[in-house]
Amino acid sequence: MSLETGFERVSMPLEAPFTIARGTQTEAENVVVRVADDAGTTGVGGAAPSAHYGETAATVEAVLPALLDAVERVGDPHALHAIEAELRAVVNGNPAARAAVSIAVHDLAAKRLGVPLYRLWGLDPSDAPMTSFTIGLDETERVREKAADAVAAGYSVLKVKLGTDRDRELIDAVRDAAPDARLRVDANEAWTPKEAVEKSAWLAGRDVEFVEQPVPAENPEGLRYVYERSALPIAADESCVTAADVPAIADRCDIANLKLMKTGGLLEARRVIAAARAHGLAVMCGCMIESNASIAAAAQLAPLLDYADLDGSLLLAEDPYEGVDLADGEIRLADRDRAGTGARPASE
Ligand SMILES: [Mg+2]
Repeated sequence: MSLETGFERVSMPLEAPFTIARGTQTEAENVVVRVADDAGTTGVGGAAPSAHYGETAATVEAVLPALLDAVERVGDPHALHAIEAELRAVVNGNPAARAAVSIAVHDLAAKRLGVPLYRLWGLDPSDAPMTSFTIGLDETERVREKAADAVAAGYSVLKVKLGTDRDRELIDAVRDAAPDARLRVDANEAWTPKEAVEKSAWLAGRDVEFVEQPVPAENPEGLRYVYERSALPIAADESCVTAADVPAIADRCDIANLKLMKTGGLLEARRVIAAARAHGLAVMCGCMIESNASIAAAAQLAPLLDYADLDGSLLLAEDPYEGVDLADGEIRLADRDRAGTGARPASE
């Protein structure tokens, strides 16, 4: 079989500037990959490169021709293991670029079989957890408004970005606006270990569920210090990039937070999930700010997760793709029941 491939950059303004402890983003630059078979069935996948992991839209575009050559060389969209291995042989880094190709090939393979990906994997859509909706850093009054808006829109699980000298004020504002919401917080590496332990005790008193990445990934002993003393469960995000990281975080956190843009593909994502389970960790899947060309694929993994944070496309002013219905936070995998990842151009 001959496969035809291509890609294009999509620049998507955000609904509002999005700030975390590391900085502010006003636009998401994704690269959408297409892989088509000779009958014209087309799979799509998105790359949402993150500068934190050394990628930009330009680095994705630079490496995609070689990655797509590898896909054409393998030639069989059902040879998912061979394709991901080939992609890793071409470049060991560039995980967002590889993820886009992996997603597109998975989408094509499942479309050719006429099933949604979760069906191909034998998963029960009713096992999917709710996704959280993320509240970025902002002026305290804006954070209060954003939390109230999220609750009004039906979201019952909120993830609040922290890592400022106003962390307590921000949580009090969110709690005030969303007294019944399930709250999680993400410090994006901004705290010292001692500060993280103190803040976790205070956050436990505000009925927060868990704390994500309290300290820098470069400080694994600090993560262990926090884990051993924290009043709340600890999730590892920046500390957990691929399956190879799981053994090292197993005695330093409670929850492994994977992302397709870190694992570099759907098979590696499922390996992270399996490795985390084998080490007794709970599993979460997060995302970057990304189009449904990739979020829809992460949503297909939802029945394997304890926690989902798949709101990346909800932060866009407009998504050129539609995907799995996440209205009010429920991941409705079976609702549209489309073959593949469920991603479609919004114009279709
Ligand atoms: Mg995070």
